[in-house]
Amino acid sequence: MNLYNHVLLAVDFYDSDQRVQIRARQIAEQNGARLSLVHVIENLPISDAAYGPIPFDVDITQEWLEASKTRLKVLGDELNVPEDRQYLEIGSAKMEIVRVADENSVDLIVVGSHGRHGFALLLGSTANGVLHHAKCDVLAVRLKDD
Ligand code: AMP
Repeated sequence: MNLYNHVLLAVDFYDSDQRVQIRARQIAEQNGARLSLVHVIENLPISDAAYGPIPFDVDITQEWLEASKTRLKVLGDELNVPEDRQYLEIGSAKMEIVRVADENSVDLIVVGSHGRHGFALLLGSTANGVLHHAKCDVLAVRLKDD
């Protein structure tokens, strides 16, 4: 019996994402479930090492969105996730992840135990927030240094 029909992988494009990605893909495959991706742009800094330098004479918001979209598309291609299941949102990561899950009948959200926000807490702030707010199951993939 399949446990899950729709798995949502939340990615922050941090180094450790790959272990989380592998786990989400395995679970989706083993359950014959659809796999979707969500990335949330939480704020729009002038530059970020993960995205490369952003020139000052461009519409930063637009550039940021495009860079995120491209990264999501590359990952979508790797994981065989079609574009209509690659969700790019702006706002609070935990709230947007939960909203996308609610609106798309997701029954499992997969997050890393820690991401960009580091290891200061037992469970990262986004992972913790998703766990508290989600109506479906949440898998926090434990990452090294825990
Ligand atoms: P954190 O709790 O913020 O350290 O991050 C833990 C996990 O939450 C990450 O491994 C991702 O799975 C997810 N996450 C964090 N930030 C975002 C984001 N902006 N968009 C999508 N997922 C995120």
